[in-house]
Amino acid sequence: MFEQYGQDARIQEVPDPAPSPHGVVVRVEATGLCRSDWHGWMGHDPGITLPHVPGHELAGVVEAVGADVANWRPGDRVTVPFICACGSCPSCAAGDQQVCERQTQPGFTHWGSFAEYVALEHADINLVAVPEELSYTTAAGLGCRFATAFRAVVAQGRVAPGEWVAVHGCGGVGLSAVMIAAACGARVVAVDVAPRALELARTFGADQCVDASAFPGGDTAAAIRELTGGGAHLSLDALGSPVTCAASVASLRRRGRHVQVGLLPAAAGDPVVPMDRVIGFELEIRGSHGMAAHAYGPMMELVRSGALRPDLLVTSQIPLAAASEALAAMGAAPGAGVTVIRPQS
Ligand SMILES: [Zn+2]
Ligand SMILES: [Zn+2]
Repeated sequence: MFEQYGQDARIQEVPDPAPSPHGVVVRVEATGLCRSDWHGWMGHDPGITLPHVPGHELAGVVEAVGADVANWRPGDRVTVPFICACGSCPSCAAGDQQVCERQTQPGFTHWGSFAEYVALEHADINLVAVPEELSYTTAAGLGCRFATAFRAVVAQGRVAPGEWVAVHGCGGVGLSAVMIAAACGARVVAVDVAPRALELARTFGADQCVDASAFPGGDTAAAIRELTGGGAHLSLDALGSPVTCAASVASLRRRGRHVQVGLLPAAAGDPVVPMDRVIGFELEIRGSHGMAAHAYGPMMELVRSGALRPDLLVTSQIPLAAASEALAAMGAAPGAGVTVIRPQS
């Protein structure tokens, strides 16, 4: 729990949460550490009120269910998208729970999963069963970066075999996107400033790696256009910064698609998008905001078959006692790969 933005979080005893009538309480077995947790801790997220418990990428066991929950029982292995939908607004009715108008987000709109127990709302709409063969550690990463990357590449990006896909920023979501795009038969250009991140990207299927630190102002677009014979078909800003957003748009070929995946907090300033190029090249600009629980099936099937290996993204596991330090470190060095916290250990 942290009581002030940017100050050390501490482990505290608090009352166990109780489920709302439509909600559940989950015993947290694993929870991922994500750059959005760092943004929240820094005070970049207006939805947070203090004191606060972060954590939104979780997997665990249903501990208690509300009276109106029909589909889940104590003991079920579950995970959840980081956007929990209301199930009844117009967006939900259209099947677009990822942009629900009354969404809740554990670790943002209410206390999250850097804890032994977390309350989740509208369980029948939002919970996803975790099969026995999938570990909690692996499942924890699915709800935020992996599902977000999957939707960004496959649904929003409409990747096709043989296309060039540029991924700007190879942290957790970027490496997930590299792996997913490569599994879909695309040729991937991975872009990052960290040699270790590029090394991992190559392991996960990137054809080409571009070290952004070698380019003045981080403008990698010309290098990517050169490597791809005229520009990427699909490009993702997986970091979320004015520099990577601009480079992503400028790295596209004619009729290319840019998907914004990394969050762009106001504190970083507004990105400058070259709308003249968007017109002249007929570029597409889309956002990708998580993935609805009902859309998990095809991704889970690819994970189950081994075509996608989110387990390989987890590079360290730490106890809750080490979470505060790891959270603070996220700002200076987002790090390559994914850190997972095990609150029960
Ligand atoms: Zn996240
Ligand atoms: Zn809704």
